[in-house]
Amino acid sequence: MVPCWTDLTTSKRVTSYFDEVRTTGTCGFHTGVDIGTAAEGGKIPLYSGTSGTVKYIRYDEHAGFHVIVRNDNGSYTVYSHLDGDTTTGAFNNTGNIAVGTRVTVGMRLGTTDSSGNLDPHLDIKTYVVGNASAFLVSIQFGISLDSSDIHYCSAVNRTYINSLTLMGGKDCR
Ligand SMILES: [Zn+2]
Repeated sequence: MVPCWTDLTTSKRVTSYFDEVRTTGTCGFHTGVDIGTAAEGGKIPLYSGTSGTVKYIRYDEHAGFHVIVRNDNGSYTVYSHLDGDTTTGAFNNTGNIAVGTRVTVGMRLGTTDSSGNLDPHLDIKTYVVGNASAFLVSIQFGISLDSSDIHYCSAVNRTYINSLTLMGGKDCR
């Protein structure tokens, strides 16, 4: 795991935190963390926060272009609103990745943008499949987590985890 979330891009700004209430969306809470990129140029390099294998490179109207990595510890990390051509559906593959690519911490994954959203930002989510306890997730990540760091979403049967806590905490620089 990357020592600090500020190593994902050049931005050091969180614009929306994990677990904030959401009246729209599937889970009723913010399943990710938003890192603002507008002031940094909007389209800026994105580097991997974990080691694992690229599972999906997709587009949908909510997440825009997004990359899902299956991490070596069995969890998943999702990077959303990335750069690409929404008319052709072509992902801007500045990281030269494909499904099945092995990624390591710090490796280029792509470029941030605002696809699927108005405001340029990176949304990063971490989750495990199923309804997991903070104790079990702590063991899986080797990091002490408490109940405020995780939130189960029954609609998708996933336990979302606060990516800031996993990546050095909100105050790391
Ligand atoms: Zn978000």
